Amino acid sequence: MITKTLKNSSIRTGRSFDLGKMNLSQLWIAYLTYPTILLYFALVACSFTVMAYTWTTLAPVAVSIGAVMLVYPLVWYAIHRFILHGRFLYRMKWSASLWKRIHFDHHQDPHLLDVLFGSPLNTIPTIAIVTIPIGYAIGGMPAAAAAFGAGLTITCIYEFFHCIQHLNYKPRMSWIQRMKQRHVLHHFHNENGNYGITSFVADRLFRSYYRDARGCPRSPTVFNLGYDVKEAQQYPWVMEETGAPPRDRPDGANPTRNAA
Ligand SMILES: [Zn+2]
Ligand SMILES: [Zn+2]
Ligand SMILES: [Zn+2]
Repeated sequence: MITKTLKNSSIRTGRSFDLGKMNLSQLWIAYLTYPTILLYFALVACSFTVMAYTWTTLAPVAVSIGAVMLVYPLVWYAIHRFILHGRFLYRMKWSASLWKRIHFDHHQDPHLLDVLFGSPLNTIPTIAIVTIPIGYAIGGMPAAAAAFGAGLTITCIYEFFHCIQHLNYKPRMSWIQRMKQRHVLHHFHNENGNYGITSFVADRLFRSYYRDARGCPRSPTVFNLGYDVKEAQQYPWVMEETGAPPRDRPDGANPTRNAA
């Protein structure tokens, strides 16, 4: 069943899995065999080992894990809102392909698993920079290892829920339905809000939260993030790498099939 799913070309678009064509059990198989996710699992095991070898007491480890759980959604929120949705990365040649990979491609076609998952080359250093200093300040080596492990674990959870948000199915649990709806609005209604993935606390705090389509006008740049054909003439690098001009909506997509 696992190899059959992995070889099933009807759930792919190009080389990537397409969440718009998959069901939940196919997602589980794709997720649990995906190299980036397996790399995170391996690094969680390494962090755990380092923590165990340098272990002193429980308190600093517990505090640093708690601190990471608090800080993490805020950091992701800030990265998503101000860096990924900032207009500066595509305007510089050296960062244009980074921006394309880390967010533009995901908004151009939100179903493609290959660009939904962050690249480990970008995510792992970011996770390390955010978590290790927090842990180290709280309790030295074991707490730093625990913090890094916690950051990686939260990332795995985020990535799974993010997949569910783009999977062509309606979750059974109402809180997951609500979470999915908010993120779908970020992709198909107005990208200047609902930046959270699993939690919208930061969106409420910083006034970027909206509950439904009536709460916010429809944005014409929801799929291209402001990188339209006109911008592409001035800043051509993302377009050159794509090999095609930016699209105003995903290929052959029918936005209603994404509605949670
Ligand atoms: Zn998304
Ligand atoms: Zn699609
Ligand atoms: Zn976004």
